[in-house]
Amino acid sequence: MMVLVINAGSSSLKYQLIDISQQKLLAKGMCERIGFEDSIHTYSKADGFREETVLALHNQVESIDAMLKMLTDPEKGVISSMNEIKAIGHRIVHGGEAFNQSMLIDNEVLEVLRQCIDLAPIHNPANIMGIEACRQEMPDIPMVGVFDTAFHQTMEPKAFIYAIPYEMYKKHGIRKYGFHGTSHKYVMKRAAAMLGRPVEELKLVSCHLGNGASICAIEYGKSIDTSMGFTPLSGLAMGTRSGTIDPALISFIMDKEGMTIEETNTYLNRKSGVLGISGISSDFRDLLKASGNGNVRAKLAIDVFAYRVKKYVAEYIGIMNGVDAIIFTAGIGENNSLVRKLVTDNMDYAGIKCDPAKNISDTGKEMDISTDDSPVKILVIPTNEEMEIALEVERVLTENKTTQRA
Ligand code: AMP
Repeated sequence: MMVLVINAGSSSLKYQLIDISQQKLLAKGMCERIGFEDSIHTYSKADGFREETVLALHNQVESIDAMLKMLTDPEKGVISSMNEIKAIGHRIVHGGEAFNQSMLIDNEVLEVLRQCIDLAPIHNPANIMGIEACRQEMPDIPMVGVFDTAFHQTMEPKAFIYAIPYEMYKKHGIRKYGFHGTSHKYVMKRAAAMLGRPVEELKLVSCHLGNGASICAIEYGKSIDTSMGFTPLSGLAMGTRSGTIDPALISFIMDKEGMTIEETNTYLNRKSGVLGISGISSDFRDLLKASGNGNVRAKLAIDVFAYRVKKYVAEYIGIMNGVDAIIFTAGIGENNSLVRKLVTDNMDYAGIKCDPAKNISDTGKEMDISTDDSPVKILVIPTNEEMEIALEVERVLTENKTTQRA
């Protein structure tokens, strides 16, 4: 079965066509600078073919058109007609409390999604635009929404309630939601496969360390706590995001620097994190290089980042009373052996022992980097959110068929 996975942003559209019966990627692409006259459409196939086209894509509908043209092109395409696409999976950033699992998209679901716009004012409207554009261009193909927040809906109130007056939760839905759920879920399943044990038996700490980064405590297949909160700003120090800071700092900085609310938001989301500390870059490759050349602030940024990851890992082992495996995933987690070393060093008290000979950078492969006698396994697992979305689409459609029959 061919599943098309769509990730629609405010000025971009990423897509992957996946043959789910073989769990194989056939082609993928990205439309960028949507709304400009010189938009860019990058397209590649599993066989290595790659093409970049500059064209005017005024909106998501035109981008979907360009994607379909490419996928069905007699020479460059991978399918002969749109009818070969059996379902579409949409990545949706925020499902609020309304969605604790992936959903077949109908008018009712779309309406509830619109009600969640307040919770993710930048991302959700773009996701909705993507859904509407697909509906217009491919009206007969079923669509499933897969939410970044859904995996964390298993958290208990003691984990998701903030210590501010309870009315804020009731009135405005202010609580911890958590993000990166699709990635945490995918690596959880892969970790279980690598360990040869069912998820229902495992305690895991999943570290999704990319430009955006979050940690998740997964007990017996369920997220019980995570480092991101009401928004993806809290928790770890990230590429450009501050992560958790003393909340009193916000009014203090606004006062001292004469910043507006909007400027402060930008400051914490786009100018902080390892970029803010180092003054050099948000990209860990640049930081590693600068630190290697003796740049003290680049080294400090890496240290702050890893220190915070380590604290969350220890905290989550504490609340679960132990752990079977620590998972490292996303750009930094998958590729950066130094961060993995800094996080796992001096954790033998918790049974965590990293083998330096196995902890190598840039392999792009699943690896167990713990010593043979380490009671806790340390797993490096390349994430694949698109594959997880495609698997969810298949699951929802199968379950839907079964309920229709029953
Ligand atoms: P992501 O958001 O998952 O794409 O991750 C982006 C982050 O991963 C950036 O900070 C990159 O510098 C980092 N990253 C990607 N590849 C490598 C690598 N080979 N070595 C170190 N960091 C990397």
